[in-house]
Amino acid sequence: MDFRNSSILVVDDDTLIRELLSTWLKHREYGVKTAKNGQQALDLIEKHNFDLILLDIMMPDMDGFDVLKALKDMGNSTPVVVMSALTDLKSVVRCIQLGAEDFLSKPIESELLWARLNASLEKKHFRDAQQTWLEELKLLQEIDQELNTTLDREAISWLTLHWGTEKTAALASCIGAIDGNQLHVRAMQGIEAADLPTLTADKQLREVTQTLVPTNGRLHPEAKYRLTLPIHRNAIIRDVAIFDLAAPVSETTMRFLKRLAIHIAIAMHNAQLYADVQAANKAKSNFVAMVSHELKNPLTSIQSYTYLLSRHGAKLPAETQANYLSIITEGATRIHNLALELDDITQIETGLFGLKIEAVSLPDVVLNVVKMFGPQIEDKHQELILELPEAPPLIRADAKRLSQILTNLISNASKYTLENGRIHVSAQLVETDAGRQLQIAVKDSGIGIQPEDQGRIFSQFFRADDEKVANVRGTGLGLNITKKLVELQGGEIGFTSEYGHGSTFFFTLPVIEQETAVTARAQPVA
Ligand code: ADP
Repeated sequence: MDFRNSSILVVDDDTLIRELLSTWLKHREYGVKTAKNGQQALDLIEKHNFDLILLDIMMPDMDGFDVLKALKDMGNSTPVVVMSALTDLKSVVRCIQLGAEDFLSKPIESELLWARLNASLEKKHFRDAQQTWLEELKLLQEIDQELNTTLDREAISWLTLHWGTEKTAALASCIGAIDGNQLHVRAMQGIEAADLPTLTADKQLREVTQTLVPTNGRLHPEAKYRLTLPIHRNAIIRDVAIFDLAAPVSETTMRFLKRLAIHIAIAMHNAQLYADVQAANKAKSNFVAMVSHELKNPLTSIQSYTYLLSRHGAKLPAETQANYLSIITEGATRIHNLALELDDITQIETGLFGLKIEAVSLPDVVLNVVKMFGPQIEDKHQELILELPEAPPLIRADAKRLSQILTNLISNASKYTLENGRIHVSAQLVETDAGRQLQIAVKDSGIGIQPEDQGRIFSQFFRADDEKVANVRGTGLGLNITKKLVELQGGEIGFTSEYGHGSTFFFTLPVIEQETAVTARAQPVA
């Protein structure tokens, strides 16, 4: 271990010894101060932090014993090596009882001096390290206690800045979440939000570093150094704290901050879990509210029209009775369909949804579904074009659920396309990271989806706030279920849409058979 630059106080009334020791020590690059008596030594000790004191015992006025007693009273634990004549063993023993660490016999022999000096400095080094470690542990315990009182990310952010600033004496600091290549600041101190520079989540922000602060991104005009503290969780950096400093911090402080980051990361993770649970609770409440809302309308019409029929049935013309009955039937069908969709959602979400995965021929399923839509498409004078590969490979799917996916997509394409519109169902082989897949697309020339709605299209109960959508029956559950059905079968779903011009929904399913040439054939079917 290298103890050069350690600062040593030599206390001796003998000028010659002071000068000799001073020369030796300076020669070995130790920092040295000297005192010629006990009082002078104590004055220096009050002003400076010494790593070691070489103390003569026999001095006029205030001797070595008095200095040791005074150090004890001051609670000063600087190691002391006493110097005495070898014949004066009694005094040495007394000094050791008073707290001296070691002794050197006079006349001082240089080899022994270096050995004792190093041994004492080494002991001090380990004692200091242990002390720092214990203090850090105590502080981290305190911080944990504070962190445990909150599950709020913002409060945790403030605590991070508070403790980080306390340790680094930062002039200004901030903490935020990494989003792409930007840091979205959540809390800051020492800087106003309006003055906050744009902080790019570059490589430096992703490591615990202390570097010169960039001139165009300073949090404080007097800052010279920037300390960045990324908060990791499962090897992913979610948050970064930045401390802009006037002076760099020590290695020990850096080590402490790294430990602090681990504690902050755990607290942030717990806060995230809590927020997720709250969001799930809210989603369930919304779900229940939506379901009861969806039930209310058909139930009200069933109640009203059954009442009318029971009160006036016989007196009403046959045509009116038939009309009332068809309204009641439609209401019952809506409730039945809603129940089926809710049942699917519950089974999918509870993991109880059973799939019968087998080798499925896509054209067989598509043709069956398309046939089913014949009357509806004819009613709206729409045209349905089918464009399938001539002999597509078999796919790995559940035929019933694939049919449900296609039904939902083709039904939407027809529902949200005006009369005389066109629906185009096609399939093609695509290469994906997961291997060859068959991509099925349902394209319509319908009303399209507004850009601001596109992010919510697969959410439960989402229906566009559009008159043309409101005029069509629906629950807003179909696409949510469709997406889950595709994903459960190992595929992916997506869409493109241009408001006012039409939409294309496409999904993939894995292929289980090699197919060499795939050619497409267009054929109108309705
Ligand atoms: P539903 O059709 O029962 O309302 P979905 O979950 O199938 O429920 O669709 C959700 C919403 O997405 C629809 O209400 C509609 O606003 C929009 N949407 C779905 N498919 C299309 C489409 N092909 N063209 C335009 N809008 C669509």
